[in-house]
Amino acid sequence: MSHTPKILLIYTGGTIGMIKDFETGALTNFNFDDLLKHIPELQLLDCAIETQSFPNPIDSSNMSPVYWADLATMIEDAYEDFDGFVVLHGSDTMSYTASALSFMLQNLAKPVIFTGSQLPIGDLRTDAKENLITSIQIAALKEKGRPKIAEVGLYFEYKLYRANRTTKITAEHFEAFASLNYPPLAESGVHLAINEAALLQPNRRKKLKVHKNLDSHIVLLKMFPGLDRDTVAHMFSFSKMKGLILETYGSGNVTSEDWFLELLKEVNQRNIPIVNVTQCSGGSVSMGLYETSVGLKKLGVISGKDITTEAALAKMMYLLGQEIPAENFKMFFETPLRGEMM
Ligand code: ASP
Repeated sequence: MSHTPKILLIYTGGTIGMIKDFETGALTNFNFDDLLKHIPELQLLDCAIETQSFPNPIDSSNMSPVYWADLATMIEDAYEDFDGFVVLHGSDTMSYTASALSFMLQNLAKPVIFTGSQLPIGDLRTDAKENLITSIQIAALKEKGRPKIAEVGLYFEYKLYRANRTTKITAEHFEAFASLNYPPLAESGVHLAINEAALLQPNRRKKLKVHKNLDSHIVLLKMFPGLDRDTVAHMFSFSKMKGLILETYGSGNVTSEDWFLELLKEVNQRNIPIVNVTQCSGGSVSMGLYETSVGLKKLGVISGKDITTEAALAKMMYLLGQEIPAENFKMFFETPLRGEMM
């Protein structure tokens, strides 16, 4: 017998629940119960909604792996009792958190939908209501008594994306996120159109496994014309560095000056994995296509393929936390684990 879907709504902070401070004029978080008063429509939805909130909701610029572990714990503790989860989160770092959760929640077979808004819920022109209401409807979707979506998604401005494929692209427009290398999982118009072929198919026989041990000792180096040897040498001398992500040009290219490859070689000799991701929003790394990436390929640099920087950071923190042997790191990183890369 089908029952009314039970949804857990988790509030972490962000614009959606913020209010203008009278003295400073800046947006700060307000009480979660006040937030719910602004959306009486929630009572009209055909699902049972329960709510939980971070004790002190945060602007997502203060997000960290410690909060990610708290969030994972909230979902883990409630996993058996709910059909789906909706996480309200600031948009600034939403793609990072949602990417991290996608790796932390192994064998996920229920929807975890991240959403937020560009304008507070109390604002007359707010985008919060549609984002929140449709997110809850998506989290409540069932087929043959089972959740329709079984992965971490991000819903914003009429589109549901695979969360670990997204990037925040604008601080102005309501359509704040893009997923240039993967199609939307669903689009909300007059009907909610699900892109069946794009959904992750879970292995329902396996139990949810939650990984909270993340290692964030990562250096992220964005290439730019003028980047000099001293700066790079200084960054690479960080003794606690466990992983290096290069944000390269185009299809994975870097300067072919000797000093750069020499410094990378030294990192390599320290058994520190080096991942190549492109600073383009769309497309993929393809080392060896140009002369300027041949050196990286020879060095055994890991290809981030079409992964976003947000997902690459999350995946590296997750894999470093797994303490897998250095010789297997490349193989694990280049394998899609949660649909985050081709
Ligand atoms: N600064 C806010 C945050 O990320 C912006 C937002 O919620 O959209 O928490």
